[in-house]
Amino acid sequence: DVRHGPILYLEDVNVSFDGFKAINNLNLTINDGELRCIIGPNGAGKTTMMDIITGKTRPDSGQVWFGSRHNLLTKNEPEIASLGIGRKFQKPTVFEALSVFDNLELAMAADKRVLPTLTARLSGEQRSRIDEVLETIGLESLCGRQAGILSHGQKQWLEIGMLLMQRPRLLLVDEPVAGMTEQEMERTAELLTSLAGKQSVVVVEHDMGFVRSIARQVTVLHQGSVLAEGTMDQVSNDPKVIEVYLGA
Ligand code: ADP
Repeated sequence: DVRHGPILYLEDVNVSFDGFKAINNLNLTINDGELRCIIGPNGAGKTTMMDIITGKTRPDSGQVWFGSRHNLLTKNEPEIASLGIGRKFQKPTVFEALSVFDNLELAMAADKRVLPTLTARLSGEQRSRIDEVLETIGLESLCGRQAGILSHGQKQWLEIGMLLMQRPRLLLVDEPVAGMTEQEMERTAELLTSLAGKQSVVVVEHDMGFVRSIARQVTVLHQGSVLAEGTMDQVSNDPKVIEVYLGA
């Protein structure tokens, strides 16, 4: 099922911190179902861009739309999350004392301030959603184990699974493979690739080998704007990109 049209649309977005332009006329379009990688040197504005999309930072000017219906600049963080935008920060934050299964069950509650009791009976539908997500993240065999004993990579996948419990339409993922082994990186590439199509995925990542292994489209940010966009081969041969990365 191929869907078309942008799911996320940023137009002429500007953000200054004490007069410093962190985001400078940023234009970005993410298509529905796409897997996009955002790269760029430190200070390029990647984190600020994610903060704008999730409503954590308000731009000084510009437009930010989710689909054609939702003007994100009129919404606060919880409202934006409930529209179906999930964000995964770099460090995994799972409930270490709980089982993998219970982590996923808790993640079903949209409002994290009101934790459901784990003793409540799950409906068949809820149970099968958890099983489906366990399979997607490849942790079926560990579902009864405490999350605290998982490897770093497995915790990252569990946290992605926790976001999936909310059935997001757009997943924002910050440096998923930092600290991972080669094998975990390969598995993460498979996972993120398998998610795209069902939802849109935006990945901010520094590891170029990883970006090359997953991305069909890469956006290079520099000084708060888009410097280049295209396939990894296209952007890595772009003289502007080479200059920024090599500091020439
Ligand atoms: P990246 O994630 O690409 O490394 P950031 O979005 O974190 O870049 O930062 C972009 C620029 O904005 C940097 O120069 C950073 O120092 C600055 N910046 C980010 N957040 C703030 C803030 N809250 N106050 C002041 N400056 C900030």
